[in-house]
Amino acid sequence: MELQDKLLKIFRETNALLSGHFALTSGFHSDSYFQCALVLQDPKYARLLGELIGERFLNEEIDAVIAPAIGGIVIACAIGDYLDQKNKKGLRVIFTERVDDKMALRRGFSIKKGEKVLVVEDVITTGGSIKEVIELAKNGGAKIVGVGSIVDRSGGKVDFGVRKEVLVTLDVKKFTQAECPLCKKGIPVDKPGSRKK
Ligand SMILES: [Zn+2]
Repeated sequence: MELQDKLLKIFRETNALLSGHFALTSGFHSDSYFQCALVLQDPKYARLLGELIGERFLNEEIDAVIAPAIGGIVIACAIGDYLDQKNKKGLRVIFTERVDDKMALRRGFSIKKGEKVLVVEDVITTGGSIKEVIELAKNGGAKIVGVGSIVDRSGGKVDFGVRKEVLVTLDVKKFTQAECPLCKKGIPVDKPGSRKK
């Protein structure tokens, strides 16, 4: 089985990937909904995904794995753990947070000049957060080794100007409510963001 199909199967089994008729928080309607945290809540899948991304950067020198909070933290830890066990003894896993809407390092985290960093995110949608993390790391004098992510929902369109390694590319169909073919068929709409589980 191709990696993409194998992972899609896991996403469906863990309810991370749902099919149906969904109203997204952005206001668009879609025939699928993806919540990456639901696959990462199972440590064996977090470990698997961390290993699959980590092994692609195994030949790189990496001083720190850095992720935007909150979505990127779990997978960054899994990747960092894999690399640390393989051959990157001493690497750090750190994360950025928004302070007054600007991406920042808090909690005593820092990046030293000349350090090589791997930027990690769970899902690439517009790539905005990752670009901000890259900017922050570059401003700290770091060299960006690449970007690693579990899922690219941009259909592969987002370019960071550095090596990008993604396990699954999803091309999620989005419609305005007025143009939604599922609404036209009269299929009841689900709001997964407000769902109580
Ligand atoms: Zn609809």
